[in-house]
Amino acid sequence: MIGLQPEGDIDWSSYRGVMVFVEQRNGQAKPVSWQLIGEATRLAAKLNVKVMALVIGWQVSELAEESIYHGADEVYVCDSKELEHYRTRPYSRVCLHVIRKYKPEIVLMGATNTGRDLAGAIATHLPTGLTADSTQLDVDEERLLLASRPAFSEKMLATILCKQFKPQMATARAGVFEQLPRDTTRTGEVIQVPPQMDPGEIATEMIEFLETKGSVNLAEAEVIVAGGRGLGGPAAFEMLKELADELGGVVGASRAVVDLGWIGHDHQVGQTGVTVRPKLYFAIGISGAVQHVVGMQNSSYIVAINKDANAPIFKIANYAIVGDLFQIIPAIIQAVRTR
Ligand code: FAD
Repeated sequence: MIGLQPEGDIDWSSYRGVMVFVEQRNGQAKPVSWQLIGEATRLAAKLNVKVMALVIGWQVSELAEESIYHGADEVYVCDSKELEHYRTRPYSRVCLHVIRKYKPEIVLMGATNTGRDLAGAIATHLPTGLTADSTQLDVDEERLLLASRPAFSEKMLATILCKQFKPQMATARAGVFEQLPRDTTRTGEVIQVPPQMDPGEIATEMIEFLETKGSVNLAEAEVIVAGGRGLGGPAAFEMLKELADELGGVVGASRAVVDLGWIGHDHQVGQTGVTVRPKLYFAIGISGAVQHVVGMQNSSYIVAINKDANAPIFKIANYAIVGDLFQIIPAIIQAVRTR
């Protein structure tokens, strides 16, 4: 048990504020944390409450300042060597302590591996529910969080609300919400929180951190070069990889080519893949089906290359190149190399 306390009679009206868990690794915040603080700012303005941020780790005090620059009004920081690496129980205990003491009415986390694990662990110890993997957030006139997420094999969008209890909790996908411009003139309050270690706990120690080989981090990429069925086969992805390498980006894909086995599922962008928000997105030989577009339409710049001038992808493209990708991509690579 992590330390579940009986809740007894609780005055739910004392719960105020929207709190975001600022996920970090080695002192670097995950972009989804700033995106969620951006969204929390919008929700907090509607509720007329403050934006709270929770930072847990080791030597993470700079992230408290960064949280304020990104929109937080109040930051809770638990900085301890024992919390250097994420572990479910020690992190859960800190979260539970902060939630019980400072009473946010809404708690948001990224739908990352860590966020999913932590939010689930916390929710089991609070008298509340959890909406996982949200893609839309709002609040209604009764101050209830309306968290929407794809449901029934992604065929519909379900809005889930937790009617009675606080805090209302949701994890949300990376790349969906917009972070606010970083504003170094913002000020806020930083509150130190002691680590909530349990001496009786079976001690676990992180020995080594191994990155998964070959996996691609689409959600955090600034440049994505994505290919679809127009590539004609898996070999053409080599060409896309070349372009991505030149631009410091990664390779994405439509579901059609993932289903065909031309590239792994971790490259898939879209409704049943990853939602992305890069600065630059190339859609190459991709028609622009709605299930693909929902996953990449928030990219800052979209360059679409398609031989069909009527391809739907051109409706959302900033730059439309009509032609054969096998002629256009080598020319772009050449141009990038000689710039
Ligand atoms: P196509 O639609 O076949 O398009 C290929 C394009 O390549 C065409 O526009 C063609 O003109 C162009 N082309 C062909 N040759 C060339 C050439 N030589 N040069 C230039 N252009 C060329 N899809 C996703 O991508 N992501 C998802 O997450 C996703 N989730 C889904 C969930 C559900 C429940 C369902 C039902 C579908 C989902 N889909 C998803 C599938 C989606 O509906 C489309 O089938 C898919 O996106 C099409 O992939 P595509 O654009 O690569 O292929």
